[in-house]
Amino acid sequence: MQNNSNNIHPVFHRILQRKDKEALLQQKSIVIWFTGLSGSGKTTIAIGLERELNKKRILTQILDGDNVRTGINNNLGFSEEDRTENIRRIAEVSKLFLNAGIVTINCFVSPTVEIREKAKQIIGEEDFLEIFVNTPFEVCEQRDVKGLYKKARAGEIKNFTGLDAPFEAPTNPFLDLKTEGKTVDETIDEVVAKILPILSV
Ligand code: ADP
Repeated sequence: MQNNSNNIHPVFHRILQRKDKEALLQQKSIVIWFTGLSGSGKTTIAIGLERELNKKRILTQILDGDNVRTGINNNLGFSEEDRTENIRRIAEVSKLFLNAGIVTINCFVSPTVEIREKAKQIIGEEDFLEIFVNTPFEVCEQRDVKGLYKKARAGEIKNFTGLDAPFEAPTNPFLDLKTEGKTVDETIDEVVAKILPILSV
């Protein structure tokens, strides 16, 4: 009998694909990328969105400065080069989650078109949902959740986005989310309504 062992490719040798993970989880995976000034509401909205999605049995992972800068990117600072590398690694990690079928929710100021384009290229255009948390500078400064605006005004923080470093608004975001004059819950509802239909298999 002819030995055909070289031609045998049992299915169990195949690495499970994203669609297999999505089928297991009964959800579509996607990367939701919140961009906006410090204090615009990225983290607050992401946390609310995650809670709502989890109620619908959708598996999610938030990536933000807290879990990224203290972990995988703890050797990076805020130079131009390090900021670029920071985003590159975040995008690569997001892609791994994407391939695991998980909805990744990213909260990073990511102030320039170039930086967000780079993330989009790595993740893939069709899987990258950009949400612009569109809160005016004055409102963010008034909120000053982390006291950063005060420090930046006092000259204790250099290159602060919106003050002495630019923020380039997205030109064509998936969602242009205005938060001024809205409650947190109203804003979260707006995002959930837009995202949820995309996630069903
Ligand atoms: P970021 O993550 O963008 O730096 P945070 O989420 O940490 O911003 O802070 C946003 C602040 O603004 C929170 O204190 C939040 O309660 C407040 N806030 C007021 N209105 C809204 C809204 N409609 N949506 C989101 N946050 C809001």
